[in-house]
Amino acid sequence: MPQTELLETALEEARAAGYIGRNVLGSGFDVDVLLHRGAGAYICGEETALLTSLEGYRGEPRLKPPFPAVKGLYGKPTVVNNVETLATLPHIVRNGPDWFAAMGTPTGKGTRVWCMSGHVNRPGNYELEMGTPIRELIYEHGGGIWKGRSLKAFQPGGASMMVLLPEHLDVGLDFDAIAKAGSMAGAGAMMVMDETTCIVDVARRLVKFFEHESCGKCTPCREGTYWMANLFDRIEFGEGKPGDPDLLLDMGYNIDGRSFCPLGDASTWFPRSVIKYFRDEFEQHIVEKACPFRGEREAVA
Ligand code: SF4
Repeated sequence: MPQTELLETALEEARAAGYIGRNVLGSGFDVDVLLHRGAGAYICGEETALLTSLEGYRGEPRLKPPFPAVKGLYGKPTVVNNVETLATLPHIVRNGPDWFAAMGTPTGKGTRVWCMSGHVNRPGNYELEMGTPIRELIYEHGGGIWKGRSLKAFQPGGASMMVLLPEHLDVGLDFDAIAKAGSMAGAGAMMVMDETTCIVDVARRLVKFFEHESCGKCTPCREGTYWMANLFDRIEFGEGKPGDPDLLLDMGYNIDGRSFCPLGDASTWFPRSVIKYFRDEFEQHIVEKACPFRGEREAVA
């Protein structure tokens, strides 16, 4: 179910139960919720860019502090939560916090919705207890890798998260466990890649996504994503040079920590992680002056 529908459903339930609306729980206090749909800008996932956009301006992050809880929408104290958090609240209010906290692990309580896409038989949204093994998500709920192929890699938490490998399948879906494995649970968007996937091309496409979604406010992100995308294009399309993987790493280190908001930092994490695990594939592209996976992908499609 799309997140906006989840939120609408949660709001209807909350109204019906008297948690929002007129005279909340007989207190004489009135409060309602207005759902304002965005236009899809990725940067508006950054809370201050979201508030700026809601005020009718271009969606760009603001300097922090002051944080939104002090000075947010129209300069007023504002609490920013995501849809998943709000959709979970009615169930916690109805069943109690102990019910929710009894699920999951000591460091990751409750459940989480994992949005799985890519090369699985049953992509979709799966709400699972925190700590559920990644193997269960991909092979039981997702029905395994499509077309009888094997797993090459996966990205556990969204477009910016570091790549993980089949050896990480028994890691639990938990913030701490995924961090220990070298990635992040992030937004819970699991992308699965089969053995025919060109990891260089995946990184190229993701960097281009960040180049497109960069708001342009700061130089490291605006220029850095553009130059990373150019470099990935030349490697993928047979014009790469021997030092290019190290040049990409150097670019990444110079963007990460020097950008105005986390979008710039995060644009470097997946590319740097695939160079760590798949440097041989970068070198193959450069030596063969072509993508070694293009023919294979077409042959088995
Ligand atoms: Fe904009 Fe990117 Fe700078 Fe964030 S890091 S402010 S998205 S240019």
